[in-house]
Amino acid sequence: MRKQFIFYWLMLTAGGLLAQPPAGNYNANSRFEQLGASLPTPNTTRTASGAPGKDFWQQRADYDIKAELDDEKRKITGTETITYFNNSPDELKYVWLQLDQNLFEKSSINATSQNNSIQNQMSSNAVTGLNAPSSVRGSVAGDFSFKITSVKDPKTGQPLKHTINGTMMRIELPVGIKTGQSYAFSVDWNYFINEYYGRAGYEFFPKDGNTNYFIAHWFPRMCVYDDVNGWQHKQFLGQGEFTLTFGNYKVALTVPNDHIVGATGELQNAAQVLTSEQQKRMEKAKTATRPVLIVSQEEAEKAEKNKPTGKKTWIYKAENVRDFAFATSRKFIWDAMQIDQAGKKVMCMSLYSKEGNPLWGQYSTMVVAHTIRSYSKYSVDYPYPVAYSCHASGGGMEYPMISFNGGRPEADGTYSEGTKYGMIGVIIHEVGHNFFPMIVNSDERQWGWMDEGLNTFVQYLAEKEWDKDYPTRRGEPQFIVDYMKQDAKNLVPIMTSSDNIMLYGPNAYAKPATALNILRETVMGRELFDYAFKEYARRWAFKNPTPADFFRTMEDASGVDLDWFWKGWFYGTEAVDQDLVEVEWFALDTQNPEINKAEAKKQAEAKRNTVARQRDKDYIKESVVDKNPDMKDFYNTYDPYKVTEADKKKYDTYLASLNPDERKLVESGVNFYTLKVKNKGGLPMPVIVKMQFEDGTDSVARFPAEIWRLNDQNVSKVITSKKKVVQWTLDPYREIADIDEESNSFPRQPAQPTKFQLFKSQGFQRGPNPMREAQQSQQPKAGQQGGAKN
Ligand SMILES: [Zn+2]
Repeated sequence: MRKQFIFYWLMLTAGGLLAQPPAGNYNANSRFEQLGASLPTPNTTRTASGAPGKDFWQQRADYDIKAELDDEKRKITGTETITYFNNSPDELKYVWLQLDQNLFEKSSINATSQNNSIQNQMSSNAVTGLNAPSSVRGSVAGDFSFKITSVKDPKTGQPLKHTINGTMMRIELPVGIKTGQSYAFSVDWNYFINEYYGRAGYEFFPKDGNTNYFIAHWFPRMCVYDDVNGWQHKQFLGQGEFTLTFGNYKVALTVPNDHIVGATGELQNAAQVLTSEQQKRMEKAKTATRPVLIVSQEEAEKAEKNKPTGKKTWIYKAENVRDFAFATSRKFIWDAMQIDQAGKKVMCMSLYSKEGNPLWGQYSTMVVAHTIRSYSKYSVDYPYPVAYSCHASGGGMEYPMISFNGGRPEADGTYSEGTKYGMIGVIIHEVGHNFFPMIVNSDERQWGWMDEGLNTFVQYLAEKEWDKDYPTRRGEPQFIVDYMKQDAKNLVPIMTSSDNIMLYGPNAYAKPATALNILRETVMGRELFDYAFKEYARRWAFKNPTPADFFRTMEDASGVDLDWFWKGWFYGTEAVDQDLVEVEWFALDTQNPEINKAEAKKQAEAKRNTVARQRDKDYIKESVVDKNPDMKDFYNTYDPYKVTEADKKKYDTYLASLNPDERKLVESGVNFYTLKVKNKGGLPMPVIVKMQFEDGTDSVARFPAEIWRLNDQNVSKVITSKKKVVQWTLDPYREIADIDEESNSFPRQPAQPTKFQLFKSQGFQRGPNPMREAQQSQQPKAGQQGGAKN
């Protein structure tokens, strides 16, 4: 129903336009207050703008590693010399190293802190795994933890006192390392390799008796010592990955001489480990536009049937990396294709056994190349000379320049759409981790979202660039709705320590990726967002950012106050649920008596049209007044809705009082709509509303989240439109993750009906009928003798 209102000239003056909180509606809220004390106090190491400060420092650790794989025993034996550079302002009396393999100790926190219970039905794996470390449930029993056989000063040969505390080891130094000094020490170790558990391990193929190895977390690695935590030696519980110190690596890997190896870094002795034919093919790959096979499937299958005749040592060098991993097997097919990334040559490569084909040969290396180009655009240019994607049995895990990825076709070479896109997605994701956190070195032991969330967000962008119709799993606001709707007891803020997060996938990957996508598309716009996001990557490439550095940089570089957004999406667990309570419709009263009196007449007539009056028309044949005309007077013919001369005069006087602009407005016939929107979910977001007009066209109006700053529960907003609106819809393109769409339309639209099926009685039996099944199984099966014909 359109209501009229009188045009009051003061409304158009400046005073009238000043925002006034609706009287009695003020609802004080802190949602738009600054984060303030929730963020650490800025200093000269980390500035208030979110950048590394003038006194920023970080440690460096160089590694010289020699290791050998025993393929028979599935065992790694290694020795390393770590040169540790102390750039901190503090003298260090001891250093801490990470012993991730100790995750598999029966006494580890991971194993002993699992909550579990007995179910009515349990698999044997679940039973044997009841008190095993969660990551190795169902794995072959064995001692996979590190055996540290020596810790010493290589110069003096003196052993160094060391203490193992779970997945951490403290080494006491003969003298403290002073600021600006370095100290070298060496560690010898060995361990039995566990079955692949999603991060590292072996995969055995019973059909040909060979094993693929994906080796990571395989040597004692330096903990980070920084200005935020001192030593970051939070125990490895399995979920919170790790954070590491940059340095240079020289690694010599001795493996059976029929193995093909891929690793972090550049191969230094190709002439010794590759055949001349393989080297020639590698040359070809430098100018190829499609992957070139360095080892073909035929060659790999031939190698599967042979035995090694000795050993080979593959030597790698990697500069400015935070970790080192490798893959090795005689089963590997190997392809390569070099790309040019901003003047830097990057050899994109894949290692996969025949079980991965045809998917891996067709896609893997092409996806690696695409990922490097796409991520470089949104963050920083890929700085490393190689990038590998290796085909492990499942999941996906990242290391510098190399990742282990799942996605395997059926044995007959067919595969589902889900397998195909799952594989491409996981390769983009894991290769993408080169940027977050292998270059932008965030601390995943503490903040899972800083690398998983940011990476999943860029993965979303890269997937769309691979194929506009890519069935992306995470990043679209509508896909996070089910998680946001969860019972509060299942929800923790994104800003939760990695190991304490429930529903890790939605919390650390999907929700932050979605939040960034919403920032880019709905809150900031692509231009402001992309500049700020790239600035964050540029500032923190090869450095270790914290959440505050990210939050501050995004605001600093864009000029957009996002504290309300960080509070709502990263520090809170509330959902978005906007309710379009009602839309009131108004029109300016023109005060034209010709229009107003005609309308009033129409309304009065409608009111008089009562059921009694309709029936009396025939029921009362002739009224007293009809029968006796002398009973009539002036009022029997008086029409109060007739426009009089006095009416016309009054109207002319009114028009004369208006200036031309005011007159134009009065005569425009424009519609005024007051939208009443309720914030039912709690998380304030922009209000986006689509107007469907009477003439079939539509238009979208957008209001920033600040619309809620004076009242975080109810807002009222006037929209003017020349065209008449027949339907209003909030969030028409599903961009703010509203968890209840039914309350988004006015007038309310009937939801899709819940379908129910017509039940067709199957006879009178209750429950299954084993008697009939038994009888049927005894009868000869007619169609079976002529062979399958379907
Ligand atoms: Zn990841």
